[in-house]
Amino acid sequence: MRRNVDIAIAGGGLTGCLTALVLQRKFPSAKIVLLDQQQGLAQQDPRGLALALRTQQVLAEHGVWQGDLLKSPAIQHIHVSDANSPGTTTMHASKEGLPALGYVAMAGALQQELSNRCAEAAFEHLQGVQVASINAENSALVLGLSDEQQIAAKLVIVAEGSNSATRAKLGIAMQQQTYPQVAVAAKVRFAKQHQNWAYERFTAEGPAALLPQGTQEAALVWCMHPENAQQLQTANAAAQVRAVQDIFGAAPGRIAEVDYQATFPLQLAMAERFIGYRAVVLGNACHTLHPVAGQGYNLGVRDILDLAANIKANDFGAAEGLNRYQALRERDYAEIVGLTHGLVAVFSNQEPLWRNLRSKGLYALRACSGLKKPLMRKAMGFRSLW
Ligand SMILES: Cc1cc2nc3c(=O)[nH]c(=O)nc-3n(C[C@H](O)[C@H](O)[C@H](O)COP(=O)(O)OP(=O)(O)OC[C@H]3O[C@@H](n4cnc5c(N)ncnc54)[C@H](O)[C@@H]3O)c2cc1C
Repeated sequence: MRRNVDIAIAGGGLTGCLTALVLQRKFPSAKIVLLDQQQGLAQQDPRGLALALRTQQVLAEHGVWQGDLLKSPAIQHIHVSDANSPGTTTMHASKEGLPALGYVAMAGALQQELSNRCAEAAFEHLQGVQVASINAENSALVLGLSDEQQIAAKLVIVAEGSNSATRAKLGIAMQQQTYPQVAVAAKVRFAKQHQNWAYERFTAEGPAALLPQGTQEAALVWCMHPENAQQLQTANAAAQVRAVQDIFGAAPGRIAEVDYQATFPLQLAMAERFIGYRAVVLGNACHTLHPVAGQGYNLGVRDILDLAANIKANDFGAAEGLNRYQALRERDYAEIVGLTHGLVAVFSNQEPLWRNLRSKGLYALRACSGLKKPLMRKAMGFRSLW
């Protein structure tokens, strides 16, 4: 059976679900179909995600900031330090006149709320299906699905994550580089309340972040060599607590408990182009970043906003709108990839000159709000860095 729709979205993860909600709200009469290979919700994702202020605003505007997300603490203060040099810097929402520097959401809770809103929405949500084939026609792309359905769409949006099969079917290649570290996700409990502080610590092996949860807990994301991750995972409870306390030092106070959750591989990947004939790749299907500054999903949310602002209801897949979109995204990607990859490179360099510059850099940030502000604006999900 062949059906015509305006927009087909492949991939119902954090990016795909929000894309469907944003486009349905902006274009209420558009016929949208969202499809995902999974049946039901994925296994609970144990990562704590640092969400930029703009991302949280978009989620709230689309009714997603509900349920467990309402308990997500706002980040009021950030402490950044380097394990190999004395420099530190702190940032405070009140000093910047902001309600928060960002928010923390557990990825599993966010996916749950996004899926709930998609289930209530007016568009069709097909689960347990994949794109098996793609054929270009005069004014549509025709998707052959794994359940034998055919969908002719004016615009196909690919949000299938890093290993997207549909992106490959569109002939869009990825440039990829694997980092020699993995990220360990764990739950941490402090001896005292965290008072909405987040901590980022740069080490020779990679950065570690404590993102506040509840009143006395934090989500830990710690980047390290795979063999050290293996050791940490199998260490006893006391050794795990000691390892985390040693990394962060005295700044976050005494750590009472560490509960290891999972290990994630890390890569830097970027699609060679972000659009094709009547097609767009976005979110992790287009870019996969190092989690150092917590920017991956935030960047995907800006993909969605730029796409919604540049496509037109008279022909959603028209080349003009997609070209405008690609030009806008190029600049944002260049800034964010430069920021995250640059942080990893600069903070893992142990040459004395770099150590000295790093410590001066963090002192400079502390002293000079003129430098800190543009970086903060970008990290909070607002537009240009400079
Ligand atoms: C350790 C770690 C920490 C991070 N921390 C942060 C942070 O603090 N802040 C932040 O902003 N970002 C962070 N990120 C990045 C963030 O997790 C990702 O950017 C985000 O999850 C990407 O979502 P996505 O929907 O694009 O892709 P995915 O989450 O990979 O979802 C893809 C979806 O597509 C579906 N799918 C896949 N293939 C197919 C197919 N062939 N057909 C149909 N459906 C398909 C899958 O079932 C899934 O539902 C972090 C990442 C890591 C690894």
